[in-house]
Amino acid sequence: RSKETGRDAITVFDTSMRERIERRVEIERTLRTAIERGEIGVAYQPVVSWPDGRVLGVEALARWTKGTERVAPTEFIDVAEESGLIIPLGAFVLDEALRQVAWMRANIPSAKDMYASVNVSPRQLQSDDFADIVAETLHRHHLPGGALFLEITESVMMGDTLAAASAMTALTSLDVRLSVDDFGTGFSSLSYLKRFPVDVVKIDRSFVSGLAHDESDASLVAAIIKMANALGLATIAEGVETHEQARRLIELGCTKMQGYLFSAPVPMGELVETVQAIGGRTTSFDRRRRCAP
Ligand code: C2E
Ligand code: MG
Ligand code: MG
Ligand code: MG
Repeated sequence: RSKETGRDAITVFDTSMRERIERRVEIERTLRTAIERGEIGVAYQPVVSWPDGRVLGVEALARWTKGTERVAPTEFIDVAEESGLIIPLGAFVLDEALRQVAWMRANIPSAKDMYASVNVSPRQLQSDDFADIVAETLHRHHLPGGALFLEITESVMMGDTLAAASAMTALTSLDVRLSVDDFGTGFSSLSYLKRFPVDVVKIDRSFVSGLAHDESDASLVAAIIKMANALGLATIAEGVETHEQARRLIELGCTKMQGYLFSAPVPMGELVETVQAIGGRTTSFDRRRRCAP
């Protein structure tokens, strides 16, 4: 009996394994043409200064609609990295994000200093012409380097550091700023933060989620903020979903945040309205405060 169960288990395993591989192959095959077919889009999530409600920037997040199906970024970004398709995909997201931010800066008074924050994979940062592509794209949209943040992961600082370090230096001389994404989930150490020209640490959502009820998460977040301050770095908290989390973050000294509390990533067409709605919340706070005795 137990033998049979074992064999069934193996069959199930084989099937799901095969399905996973087939799906990966299918994703790689269709991703090649997805950009040209216009299936790839970009969603934008505001980075908010809180509680004043200023939208400092927007993070660009790739979206893929394949027929009626939406493929999750966590699924296709991995495939793109392994296949090298992240190079054209990344260039596309960068171009779209800068176009959008140039438009926002020119047309929305409260957004005249807004920046785009674009995720960059290790493979892009290690390619020879990455800094040139960034410079060209900024130039094409008539934007200064200060209109762009690039989000790198801790693994970039640990990997082939020579190529990545020279790209980072070139980017810094363009005034492009760098942030470390998902901070605390990798193996980075303080020495990396000191060695690389990083400006911002993004505190990973997994620590933020427990902030209001888990003492160890709260201590971790407090430690990250202290450490960042000591190194002269700013912090942005990711995945803020509740007012209680936002309140704790402010107490701990982190006043820049992203998350569903303010807005999920939205398509380009909803960005203006979203930015104004976030700012509008503050206006009502201020009004209340002014009326208070
Ligand atoms: P990330 O850069 O850390 O982006 C944050 C992710 O958290 C996004 O998932 C966003 O939709 C989600 N998120 C934001 N606020 C909340 C919240 O309050 N609660 C929860 N539960 N989730 C929240 P998304 O869009 O699925 O992207 C996943 C990851 O895929 C990104 O993580 C990033 O590492 C990668 N990615 C997305 N677009 C690109 C891209 O253009 N290039 C590269 N290299 N990577 C990308
Ligand atoms: Mg990111
Ligand atoms: Mg992140
Ligand atoms: Mg990430």
